[in-house]
Amino acid sequence: MGRSSKDKRDIYYRLAKEEGWRARSAFKLLQLDEEFNLFKGVSRAVDLCAAPGSWSQVLSRKLREEVKIVAVDLQAMAPLPGVTQIQGDITKISTAQEIIRHFEGQSADLVVCDGAPDVTGLHDVDEYIQAQLLLAALNITTHVLKPGGNFVAKIFRGKDVTLLYSQLKIFFSSVTCAKPRSSRNSSIEAFVVCQNYSPPEGYVPNMSNPLLDHSYDVDFNQLEGPNRIIVPFLACGDLSAFDSDRTYPLQLDSSKEYQYLPPTQPPIRPPYLQACQLRKNNLLAKEDSPSGALDDSLSALDL
Ligand code: SAM
Repeated sequence: MGRSSKDKRDIYYRLAKEEGWRARSAFKLLQLDEEFNLFKGVSRAVDLCAAPGSWSQVLSRKLREEVKIVAVDLQAMAPLPGVTQIQGDITKISTAQEIIRHFEGQSADLVVCDGAPDVTGLHDVDEYIQAQLLLAALNITTHVLKPGGNFVAKIFRGKDVTLLYSQLKIFFSSVTCAKPRSSRNSSIEAFVVCQNYSPPEGYVPNMSNPLLDHSYDVDFNQLEGPNRIIVPFLACGDLSAFDSDRTYPLQLDSSKEYQYLPPTQPPIRPPYLQACQLRKNNLLAKEDSPSGALDDSLSALDL
């Protein structure tokens, strides 16, 4: 592939280089802002999953001079003027605390998240992981966003997307799914634009996502009212317990010979009872049995 072929195929890739954006995704945030006027009145903004930094570039170019911008990513990012970087995980409470420290205890007006896990190519798995990342972004946002603030995040429009919309609707009075022109039609990627953060009364932000973090900072049984809305999923049982998907040898204990035990309570009238009785009486139809033998047997058994 020649050096110019990607330039030819992808206008946004070419434009990004011409305009000095680190990634073509800069245009997605610019187009979302054109539609939703996201940057108006923003003086504290958070860019979650920011590397290589094109969304942070957009924020620093578009927002006023005295603005504070914090960018978070697992990966290191080349420095950007006016952007404070945190190399950290958005699923961790320590990251939320660090953001708040940078804002000197104040909350953000806007949180954006273009986070994406490494794509596996297995659509269901990718959609599921993306949904978990979005929920993690929502979790950390509930720690750092001011009431009335806005949240924008990447979403995969898979078959279970309505569940995510409902979860977001609990926290924001307006939730819109937007697809900027610069996001390819062939991609299931879109962006949720969540406006006017208004958590349910009594909601206490927490970071517990049992799927992502095994050291829970919350006892789920203690959660009440609006704090129980996000249903936790827990994998239970000791890891040394038997794996229900594995096949084990009949003789588990070498000192004891395997002995068949009948079921504690067999079914009272199972659908296969008739076949069992026929077999017991050696009356099951055989290839060479005369026609009508089975009918005769059935009437003999009165079944
Ligand atoms: N918006 C960026 C830009 O315009 O340059 C591009 C973001 S890139 C598509 C997705 C990023 O999500 C990656 O850099 C990845 O490291 C980051 N990421 C994925 N999971 C993360 C997590 N748990 N915490 C922080 N960053 C994460």
